[in-house]
Amino acid sequence: MSNQQDQIIAITVAGGVGRRMASETPKQFLPLDGKPLLLHSLEVFDRHPAITAQCVVLDPAYHAMVRSEAPWTSLSKPLILAEPGAERADSVRSALRAVKGQAAIVLIHDAARPLLIAAMIDATLAHARQGRGAIIARPVAETVKRADGEQRIAETVDRRDLWIAETPQTFPFDLIWRAHESAVAQGLVLTDDAQAVEALGEPVALCPAESPNPKITVAQDLGVVETLLRGRGEGAVAR
Ligand code: C5P
Repeated sequence: MSNQQDQIIAITVAGGVGRRMASETPKQFLPLDGKPLLLHSLEVFDRHPAITAQCVVLDPAYHAMVRSEAPWTSLSKPLILAEPGAERADSVRSALRAVKGQAAIVLIHDAARPLLIAAMIDATLAHARQGRGAIIARPVAETVKRADGEQRIAETVDRRDLWIAETPQTFPFDLIWRAHESAVAQGLVLTDDAQAVEALGEPVALCPAESPNPKITVAQDLGVVETLLRGRGEGAVAR
């Protein structure tokens, strides 16, 4: 590998157990349009010219398979495998430890979002190259209600400045490392990585998702995502 200055490493977290999927096969290996869910994102990173290596966070039971069996062996870039932690943020920290000293910039992506496209990588990377964090996000289009704890509406929330955070979330390595260390020290519970950088008081840019980028959570989501994927036609948009 070349030195740290020009390493841009894509981290894909796939260490969850997918309890809401009600499936024997872990979510990241369920077939989506003929290949495992996880492979969709890994192939997009593999094809992208700016990405120099990948790190995948995965239960060690699958490491040998991903290293040595088809279709995974079609991936051409250096592959670093890391072990998951109890929560998503622990899995991200495991990946950050695994790439420390190699990465100048990291993109952190959920395997559960297989509709990743190159434009999402480009948009967030442009900010990280300027020393800032950036995430793919979607402006809230729906009317949002806050509940009172009893499934009754307490209020309608002004949605004008509300965005849904998606992935990839992209940062200079030193910034996200410092942010996660500080989050641990403060006992912050994180549901994404930008939150750790926000807590440092550092700006994080919102990059609108240019195409649907849903997270697969329950089994029914697979059919919807498959339809979206096929609708893109021959993968032209994904390249
Ligand atoms: O559970 P959730 O859908 O929020 O997980 C988002 C992503 O984080 C998934 O790709 C999942 O595999 C990953 N994850 C992980 N380690 C955990 C929990 C979730 O890598 N402990």
